[in-house]
Amino acid sequence: MKLKIIDKDSSSIKIEISETTPAFVNALRRTIMQKIPVLAIETVDFIDNTSALYDEIIAHRLGLIPFVFDLKNYVSKDECKCKGKGCSSCEVRFVLKKKGPCNVYAKDMKSTDPDVKPVEGDVLIVKLLKEQAIDLEATAQIGTAKQHAKWQSSIVGFNYFPTLKVDKKRLNEAKACVDACPLGLITKDLKLKDPYSCNLCGACSVACPDGVVTIEGDSSHIILYIESVSGLSPQDIIRKSLEIIGNDIGEFEEAFKKQVK
Ligand SMILES: [Zn+2]
Repeated sequence: MKLKIIDKDSSSIKIEISETTPAFVNALRRTIMQKIPVLAIETVDFIDNTSALYDEIIAHRLGLIPFVFDLKNYVSKDECKCKGKGCSSCEVRFVLKKKGPCNVYAKDMKSTDPDVKPVEGDVLIVKLLKEQAIDLEATAQIGTAKQHAKWQSSIVGFNYFPTLKVDKKRLNEAKACVDACPLGLITKDLKLKDPYSCNLCGACSVACPDGVVTIEGDSSHIILYIESVSGLSPQDIIRKSLEIIGNDIGEFEEAFKKQVK
C-alpha cells in the first residue's frame, strides 16, 4: 500500500491510497463516520428563558454546536470510572447567562474546562430584545454518530482514481471531449490535467462514444476525503479510527482463540 497526502488544512484532508481495496477504505470510512467519540451537549437545564424561542429549540441548537476538546481527556459515560453518574472525565458543564438587548453567541457559554470551547464562537444561538433574558446550564458528554448525528466527527467519502483512455487512431473524433468535460480537466492534447478533481461523471465518454474516449475508475487506487465537522482535527480522527479498528480486530481475535484451540 502506498499513501500520499494530496491536500490538508486544519479541518480537512485528501489522501491518495494506491495498491489498496475498496473494502479496506470503506472499513476506514464507516469507522470514521460512526464510531469516533465526539463531545456535544446532551442535557440543558433552563433557569430562565424569556426569549422568543422555546426551550426545546434553544436546547436543539446547543446540541448541534461542535466543540474543540482533547480526546485523551474524556471518555463516554458508560466507560467512565464514575459508572455513568457524571464526573470531570465524562462531562463538561456550561453556563449561559445573558440579558437583552443583545445577540447570544456560542462564545458566550462559560465552560468548566477552559480547553473546551466552540469551534466557531460566532454561532448565533438567540437574539434577545429589551427585557428578555436567558439563563441556563448545559452538560456535554461523549457520544458517537451511531447514537445521534450531533456526535458525527466528519464527512468522509472516497472515489476511484480516474484513468482516461483515448483511441489514438481516432484522435479527430476524440477532440469533442475537451469541451464536454464540465470541469475543464481535459487538455487539448487529450490528457487529464487534474485527476484529483475528476468525479468520473463520464461526460467525456458520452461526447465521444463507441470507445473513442473512455474514463474508468481504478478500484485499487483510491482518493479518500475527510472533512471534520467536529472539534477534532482530521489527523486525530484517522488515528482514533485506526485504534478502534485495531481494538475490534483484537476483540475478535480473543473471542476466536477461545473457541478454536
Ligand atoms: Zn464519569
